[in-house]
Amino acid sequence: MQAPIINRQSIITLLVLLLFDFAIFNLIASQTAAKTPSTLVVPQAVTVGSPFLVELSSPGRLEAVEIEWSERVIQPSIANADNTYTALVMLGTGMNAEPGVRSIQVRARVDGRNRTYQKFIEILPREFSQEALSVAPGMNKPPKKLHGRIKRELAAMRGALRTDSRQRMWEVPFHRPVPGIMLSRFGLRRTFNNETKRRHTGLDFRAPEGTPIEAIAAGKVVLVGEYYLPGNTVVIDHGNGVVSMAIHMSNVMVKEGEWVERGQAYGLSGATGRVTGAHLHLSVAVHGVTVDPEPLFEMGHITGAAAALQPK
Ligand SMILES: [Zn+2]
Repeated sequence: MQAPIINRQSIITLLVLLLFDFAIFNLIASQTAAKTPSTLVVPQAVTVGSPFLVELSSPGRLEAVEIEWSERVIQPSIANADNTYTALVMLGTGMNAEPGVRSIQVRARVDGRNRTYQKFIEILPREFSQEALSVAPGMNKPPKKLHGRIKRELAAMRGALRTDSRQRMWEVPFHRPVPGIMLSRFGLRRTFNNETKRRHTGLDFRAPEGTPIEAIAAGKVVLVGEYYLPGNTVVIDHGNGVVSMAIHMSNVMVKEGEWVERGQAYGLSGATGRVTGAHLHLSVAVHGVTVDPEPLFEMGHITGAAAALQPK
């Protein structure tokens, strides 16, 4: 088990940005002003390694919404509630993203007319702390005969984390998977046994052996594995590019292809794989980019409309 990180300045900065720094741009959908304008909500700034939300909403029919960000084109699912169409999408910056200003383009058919919106988001730098850990020698330097297996397992996990199904099943804020406090944070520069350097690609929660692990959102189990370094592993697709992964579990209660509800226990925490003790390690990928899961549990709805949105 790792000690809690004391310097939380970067996390606080991040949360402040996510909660208070959303810039709202009103876009005039019609020159005649006969219709209420559509609204695009984009954060002005995000920190390296963070998930963030983009939302386009309109009283007029929204179709064919496409969001171009970081050389990807994402097609969010469109929901209609209370006479408002809303396309809500989660995007993210990787832990190695270069700070600087990036453009984001949103294209959509609004009331039958093609529209293009261009905005800019600043990626802000973030400090990542260091952490030294001691693990069993076979976990730090696995024997050669296991290298093939480890490679295959990592490839399976990476593939599952890139799942990008169309329909959004998640809602904000996400459900906390265990009641325990957060321990080692995302992005830490780790050294195992003073020799192997790795970045921490998820978030660790305190979870004594046997703690039920609950789904952070509804979704479909896309991978279950008994792996060498991560131990017992479950990957869940929450839809529209949001995927979560729990590792080091002592027990897995689901099978691949199974549906889980938000908050449903799908396994028990443990100490399988490369660990210093029982805990829950949670990783989250957004359109294939591994991001800090921590802001997901604090995210507020961008607009009132988003709160009413559930996938049909
Ligand atoms: Zn971890």
